Amino acid sequence: MVSFSHSESDDTPSEAAKPESAVETARRQLKHAAAYLEIDPNIVERLKYPTKIHEVNVPIERDDGSVEMFTGYRAQHDSVRGPYKGGLRYHPEVTKEECVGLGMWMTWKCAVMDLPFGGAKGGIAVNPKKLSSGEKERLTRRFAQELRNVIGPTIDIPAPDMGTDSQTMAWLMDAYSMQEGETIAGVVTGKPPVIGGSEGREEAPGRSVAIVTELACEYYNLPLEETTVAVQGYGSVGANAARLLDDWGASVVAISDVNGAMYDPNGIDTQSVPSHDEEPEAVTDHADDVISNEELLALNVDVLIPAALGNVITEETAGTIDADMVIEGANGPTTSTGDTILTERGVPVIPDILANAGGVTVSYFEWLQDINRRAWSLERVNEELETEMRSAWQAVRTEFDQREVTWRDAAYIVALSRIADAHEARGLWP
Ligand code: GLU
Repeated sequence: MVSFSHSESDDTPSEAAKPESAVETARRQLKHAAAYLEIDPNIVERLKYPTKIHEVNVPIERDDGSVEMFTGYRAQHDSVRGPYKGGLRYHPEVTKEECVGLGMWMTWKCAVMDLPFGGAKGGIAVNPKKLSSGEKERLTRRFAQELRNVIGPTIDIPAPDMGTDSQTMAWLMDAYSMQEGETIAGVVTGKPPVIGGSEGREEAPGRSVAIVTELACEYYNLPLEETTVAVQGYGSVGANAARLLDDWGASVVAISDVNGAMYDPNGIDTQSVPSHDEEPEAVTDHADDVISNEELLALNVDVLIPAALGNVITEETAGTIDADMVIEGANGPTTSTGDTILTERGVPVIPDILANAGGVTVSYFEWLQDINRRAWSLERVNEELETEMRSAWQAVRTEFDQREVTWRDAAYIVALSRIADAHEARGLWP
């Protein structure tokens, strides 16, 4: 367990029996990127810690009349560039430490995209699959009530993440608005468009993965029409990325769900396979030949997109990867050791904080639309997303070319210099 006290030394990577936690990884990456920059060490010290961690116990009445308690968190990492921003996760393995680590990643993600937001992450340790819709609604509304004083459109703006969706955000927005006595759409993003959600928000993380894949292929002189792609995970990120890349001419040869992967060297018709949101675990049901998720990772393809869980490219699997490049669709799919192995093997990894940042970028567009009470068309959203992705790519690419570092380091260097400059300008007060 990671302690947040200042006496804790977090400088040594813990590669012992237990895999590194999200916060340990985030801190190590921070230290690594800081070494390339001339940043005041006091600023780096501040960035190692979240500003605040809120922990709440959330009681709900189950459908059978019993009352059950769940623990929820909101870790607010840094707000030097604007309100805290980041998702809420409903998953049995949610912990305080995980929220802190993922919240730090949100700070870097917003900065690499140059959005006027800081970083946060929250969640409840619960298996949402074991709750009825009514139970989920009561849990979400009570969670909103417990967090009411620490969230808000200019304070901290939650969004969907693993195990939560646009309906969860609608309940949250409603509970918050009812208590405030007015409709405040901008308190969360990822809502249904009918109540102030943005067109294109659901597709956005997958769309940004596809855009970044196209840019990376261009960089490495790989025409998209000649590119083979394997996508792990067929949820919102994986399915949207796979379908867009398929549409743009790439050949998607493998896709997967939790039970295994569909593989067709001649290319899969990605539209004909329902995504996880359309029909859970449908990939293996529709497959003639099922291979394992480990076999998918080891396929000889041009591009591998891990878009399911975190920590899938590990000490064990990194050596088996036969793709020419990896584009991180999920948050944190590569462990530190996995990353080192891929770097040593010369496999470029385009990091999550850039590749899947379309989600938070369209969240920003949603927030702007809510504040201005004016909806944008899907065409405008997609056009502006493309512009933002290209400009972030350009900034990262410049660091990559000039410093000869990894893509991850380049993205962290872009993010960290913007955050450090903002801290420098604002100073420490009181
Ligand atoms: N949960 C998403 C992410 O990890 C989106 C966060 C947001 O839109 O605020 O990037």
